[in-house]
Amino acid sequence: MRHRSIFVIAVLVLGLGTLTTLSTTRATQEVAPEVQERLEHVRADLDKVKEDLPYACCINPACNFCALVDGGCPCATNIETEIGVCGECLLGWHAGLGHVPGVEAADVKGLSGDMLVTMYEKLEKHFSGHTHEH
Ligand SMILES: [Zn+2]
Ligand SMILES: [Zn+2]
Repeated sequence: MRHRSIFVIAVLVLGLGTLTTLSTTRATQEVAPEVQERLEHVRADLDKVKEDLPYACCINPACNFCALVDGGCPCATNIETEIGVCGECLLGWHAGLGHVPGVEAADVKGLSGDMLVTMYEKLEKHFSGHTHEH
């Protein structure tokens, strides 16, 4: 039993260490002001174009994933079906952004199977994937 609790503590410490590293990385990345400004334009444009896309999103503010990948969001329509919602919507529910009366976060399912693969195939088609470190 003693070894076991040491193991559990070690896992917890490692886990917390990883979490700390991740949050530090996300918070301290330096971005040039002109790049920041370009990103602001992208955000504003995306926000605006979503008003003209077919958007039935289930979280508020509405997800961006479905706009970028699919040109519209059916997550509010799909939330109570077997199809489920996109990953951004799913995590949005867990962050308290859910916006469909009568639905509980714990009951929300994410996309799975062919539908999930199709969405990410579309994502690959639209984006080239810059995963390099700065
Ligand atoms: Zn959505
Ligand atoms: Zn979505």
